[in-house]
Amino acid sequence: MSCAFDLAHYADLLAAAKAGGYRFVFFDREPQAGELLLRHDVDLSLDAALELAELEAEAGAHATYFLMTQSIFYNLASREGERTLAGLRELGHRVGLHAVYPHLDLDDRFDPVVAWHNPDRDFMGEPLDGAVNVMQSGYFDPDHYRSDSNQRWRSGCPHDELAAGGFEWLQLLTHPEIWAYSGETMRETMLTMLDAERDRDLERLAEDRIDMEPLS
Ligand SMILES: [Zn+2]
Ligand SMILES: [Zn+2]
Repeated sequence: MSCAFDLAHYADLLAAAKAGGYRFVFFDREPQAGELLLRHDVDLSLDAALELAELEAEAGAHATYFLMTQSIFYNLASREGERTLAGLRELGHRVGLHAVYPHLDLDDRFDPVVAWHNPDRDFMGEPLDGAVNVMQSGYFDPDHYRSDSNQRWRSGCPHDELAAGGFEWLQLLTHPEIWAYSGETMRETMLTMLDAERDRDLERLAEDRIDMEPLS
């Protein structure tokens, strides 16, 4: 099996988790043996988040999507943002806050669960008032955690270990952009995403009644 960062292999990962007997759970209590926390930090693209969310729903998997209120790449308060929030919930997923330290804008759009964006070590795992920090002890420790950061698995792709039930429990962090857009490297994937975003921006311009027809 090739461990490509694409939707086909993401589906393989879900199938492996099922073969390994894992249950998909949320960040509403500490994970128990046999449980899998699917976590998605949505850094760049709402479209990618929805695409992955649909794939998961079809596979009978449930995840928690962490969305930003302070992204410079998307606007959660826009119609697209609202549509994404509603779509993720309709598909059976949960939504947490992907927060930029130290701002905690936890409002009723979010479940009480927070993942810091690009955290420093000194606050990364600190417990929070009234919300779960995904990196606090009980939800996180290095042996129960895998992440696809910058299109690289630090400890290898976990599909074999999942299929074999090798993790007691696991928090699996993946970034939808990496899987929804094609590319052998993070650079290639980001360039594919930017091409897609350009097409989306042209649609957005038309929807915003920008007339790009040449003057006749
Ligand atoms: Zn793999
Ligand atoms: Zn992030």
